[in-house]
Amino acid sequence: MDIQTVGIIGAGTMGNGIAQACAVAGLRAVMVDINDAAVQKGVATVGGSLERLVKKGKLDGADRDAALARIQGSTNYDDLKAAQIVVEAATENYELKLKILKQVDAMLAPGVILASNTSSISITKLAAATSRPEAFIGMHFFNPVPMMALVEIIRGLQTSDATHDAVKALAVALGKSPITVKNAPGFVVNRILVPMINEAFFVLAEGLATAEDIDAGMRLGCNQPIGPLALADMIGLDVCLAVMEVYLTEYGDSKYRPCPLLREMVAAGRLGRKTGRGVYAY
Ligand code: NAD
Repeated sequence: MDIQTVGIIGAGTMGNGIAQACAVAGLRAVMVDINDAAVQKGVATVGGSLERLVKKGKLDGADRDAALARIQGSTNYDDLKAAQIVVEAATENYELKLKILKQVDAMLAPGVILASNTSSISITKLAAATSRPEAFIGMHFFNPVPMMALVEIIRGLQTSDATHDAVKALAVALGKSPITVKNAPGFVVNRILVPMINEAFFVLAEGLATAEDIDAGMRLGCNQPIGPLALADMIGLDVCLAVMEVYLTEYGDSKYRPCPLLREMVAAGRLGRKTGRGVYAY
């Protein structure tokens, strides 16, 4: 499948990152959001990010201008009709995504691939709500998109091989290293990462070591760039707790029980960097 234009729904953190990755790779990106302010903010974020690359000598000015010219910001869903694939990267809310995907599905030509960047919603379930479950897939980018090499490609139960192969080729064309995953809560990376963070809270709660030493242990002993507790502060303790609760419900296995200390900190409003205090004070 020849993909020249990528439609992106949502111009937020992930949407504008995906638009930048497409534009830098020479593809056109149509990025749609709900109002002009959101679209302009998304486009400006890409502009700022490309400018930093120019200052670092990683991109020349002409390439920056050409990349920016390949991004069309819009508030009109009709503009997505130019795309061979549409990646939904709107706010993480099931009802909202369902509404968006049904609307776009009804509008796009048959054969156009629909992908979702959701972190937690079932790809199979979203696919089933459209008329093209075989052409529906998860394309889970990591933040910040222009920097992170990984894309998890999530196959729903009905995703076709042709759709998978086209999306994998697209990820490679964007300079990414894709991995293929069957649909399941947390996919691969978060399924392993978040329980590890939860375990770090158990170790802290049991008083086995200080937070600083737990993080130093994982940085120095496992070559992790950041310790699990510091990472929890970055992700948000509330997000980590919500993810564990989803695993506990969906898998029905007590190994996913959230650590009581994690619950306690969330109840206290210590959500991490965003509230100025999590495991650490900021
Ligand atoms: P965000 O809040 O930064 O951006 C979401 C954008 O969607 C906003 O600009 C919002 O205005 C827009 N939006 C809402 N309703 C819309 C609609 N009807 N049509 C078009 N746009 C609409 O959120 P984000 O962090 O970019 O997350 C987007 C998706 O990516 C979520 O599904 C999230 O789970 C997933 N994700 C996020 C991360 C991350 O680290 N932030 C990583 C991987 C995946």
